[in-house]
Amino acid sequence: MPKYAFFGGEFVPIEKAKVSIMTHAFNYGTGCFEGIRAYWNEEEEQLFIFRMREHYERFHRSCGILHIELPYSVEQLGEITVDLLRKEDARTDTYIRPLAYKATEGIGVRLHDLEDEFALFALPFGKYIEKEEGANVCVSSWSRISDNAVPARAKITGAYVNSALSKTEAVLNGFDEAIVLTSDGHVSEGSAENLFIVRNGVLITPPVTEDILEGITRATMIQVAREKLDLETVERKIDRTELYVAEEAFFCGTGVQVAAIATIDHRPVGTGKLGPIVKGLRDLYFDIVRGKVEDYRDWCTPVYSK
Ligand code: PMP
Repeated sequence: MPKYAFFGGEFVPIEKAKVSIMTHAFNYGTGCFEGIRAYWNEEEEQLFIFRMREHYERFHRSCGILHIELPYSVEQLGEITVDLLRKEDARTDTYIRPLAYKATEGIGVRLHDLEDEFALFALPFGKYIEKEEGANVCVSSWSRISDNAVPARAKITGAYVNSALSKTEAVLNGFDEAIVLTSDGHVSEGSAENLFIVRNGVLITPPVTEDILEGITRATMIQVAREKLDLETVERKIDRTELYVAEEAFFCGTGVQVAAIATIDHRPVGTGKLGPIVKGLRDLYFDIVRGKVEDYRDWCTPVYSK
């Protein structure tokens, strides 16, 4: 459990960070959020926040779409986050949750003429899915929300009902995760993570116009695959059955990190075992996020001064 939260413009004990049942965002899902990870580096006795700037830049963009005015700049949000982690004395892998939401207490569906609030908490966090080296996944019967209905590009709290429907359906049917298709039937992403497949040794991922969240881990994968593994990524539409004939496939995201997919709709992906490309990307990712790869060290914000 976290000990503190940033709430109402100050640090308060977590028990004091409470909202009313009349809160607009609680009634209508009118909030935006982020999910950021910080990784503990044992040798350096340092906690590194991964790509915090990019997360807070996306947070600002999500808020813009939802007519939420954030009172803090990207830099200020970063400072508040570092302060919170220091107050928590976080010395383990940690998940950071910023939230911005329509805080007015009252009835009426809209985005204008409402008060905005910002809140932040952080808690220790390990794996998001158990079988990171070979998840069994299905194609969901639920479609991804479309940009003209609820934009997936913005990380909107209410939009995660779509993710929750597909995740729970998958788990109740015995799978670890779901892959969700766009309303025109192309591959979009996982329930809460982006997706890549490998065909003929080339990485392929849906473009940002396929109702995906524009993932920071996705961008990380594209860059490090090119720079460190000499692998190009093609961003193009993916058919459902390409999932069944792919050599390798994986999910990536802040929560899921980099997770290999073993089977899709009961069909083994490639050999059904962790493949060389996904293994290479996983190994690299876990080194990068802990600040162990010099070239990407500026993606890692240290929490404690040395
Ligand atoms: N898609 C969805 C729907 C997500 O919720 C997430 C997790 N934030 C991602 C993709 C991955 O995004 P990121 O790599 O920025 O965490």
